[in-house]
Amino acid sequence: MDILCGAGVGGGSLVYHGMTIQPDEEAFARSMPSGLDWTAFDQDFYRRVERRLRPAPIPRDLLGTKQYRAARQFHDQVLGKGLRPFRVPLPVDWDVVRRELRGELPPSYSTGDVIYGANNAGKRTLDVTYLAEAEATGLVQIQTLSWVRDIERDRSGRWIVHVDRITTGGRVAVRRRIVTDALFLGAGSAGTTQLLVKAKAKNLIPDLPDDVGTTSLIGFGLVKPLGEFRYDARTDDAVLHWKQSYDADLTAAIRDRITGIVGGSLLIDTTRFDTTTYHPLGGAVIGAVCDRYGRVRGQRGLYVTDGALIPGSTGACNPSMTIAALAERNMDAVLPEII
Ligand SMILES: Cc1cc2nc3c(=O)[nH]c(=O)nc-3n(C[C@H](O)[C@H](O)[C@H](O)COP(=O)(O)OP(=O)(O)OC[C@H]3O[C@@H](n4cnc5c(N)ncnc54)[C@H](O)[C@@H]3O)c2cc1C
Repeated sequence: MDILCGAGVGGGSLVYHGMTIQPDEEAFARSMPSGLDWTAFDQDFYRRVERRLRPAPIPRDLLGTKQYRAARQFHDQVLGKGLRPFRVPLPVDWDVVRRELRGELPPSYSTGDVIYGANNAGKRTLDVTYLAEAEATGLVQIQTLSWVRDIERDRSGRWIVHVDRITTGGRVAVRRRIVTDALFLGAGSAGTTQLLVKAKAKNLIPDLPDDVGTTSLIGFGLVKPLGEFRYDARTDDAVLHWKQSYDADLTAAIRDRITGIVGGSLLIDTTRFDTTTYHPLGGAVIGAVCDRYGRVRGQRGLYVTDGALIPGSTGACNPSMTIAALAERNMDAVLPEII
């Protein structure tokens, strides 16, 4: 299983499609950790994410163009099966797509190239939303081309971040240490989990909870957290252990459902040839490794803020909106502790 992650200022949002979907109450309750108040998410935290990213579904004039014929066809096939299709909100400036179609901008959305990143400023990625807002406070400094190799707790309980400053070619230019009282991990499910698994195996952070590293991988359907990152001393890295059988039933159920709508001949499941996921979740989950607000248990000043907190799935929906809503909620609780 390969995990695809965005690497850059803005993380996964640089390359994601941007499907911004809120799970319904039942799916949320079935998949998210207990103790999260659905009503507060519905009325407040999801709404905050919407205000920042301003997701909107594709307008009908664009859906009518030849570039979106496949989407129209699928929509009609879904309707034909008596199901209710809906247009998924995306954090996209649809006027930019109109300009692409008029030939005023190089195509990106209208060709599907958007998953390699969009250079025409039409997507509200985190670098131009959340991170830009944070920088505008004057209190935040973003350091690019920096790879965190290890994290460590010193004898006085402070946190040491071992950072490699790299060149654009990936060569390590300088090795640095940053020392801090509070450390917020936001390296994504895979990145945060790798750092914690390494720290545990190398005893850089003594007494980390035992469940560090247990992960799920596919954000579709309600999956069980059966995968695991394990430390490999040879490569000094945390390596994913995952068997395809873990989600075989779920994959078959999704395939059957889609085949029932479009017919088998039209369906190509690329993950059968190259097993990949865009939606890693878990590794430092709420309840096992972290408390309800992302504080790592037994480790004062160490916090997890990303998809590593979420066990299993985000209510069978694409995960980014729930990851962001959870971060909004947790920051309300933990920031007053350190400011
Ligand atoms: C091609 C693609 C399409 C997707 N489409 C959708 C979609 O339509 N809708 C949806 O909801 N989700 C989608 N996703 C998933 C979504 O992007 C992720 O769920 C989301 O970005 C996870 O957010 P995060 O904050 O947990 O971590 P990330 O967004 O992964 O951010 C982690 C950041 O930390 C950095 N990092 C990691 N390790 C280190 C380290 N050791 N040192 C320094 N930096 C580090 C990474 O480079 C990255 O910038 C897609 C993902 C991909 C790859």
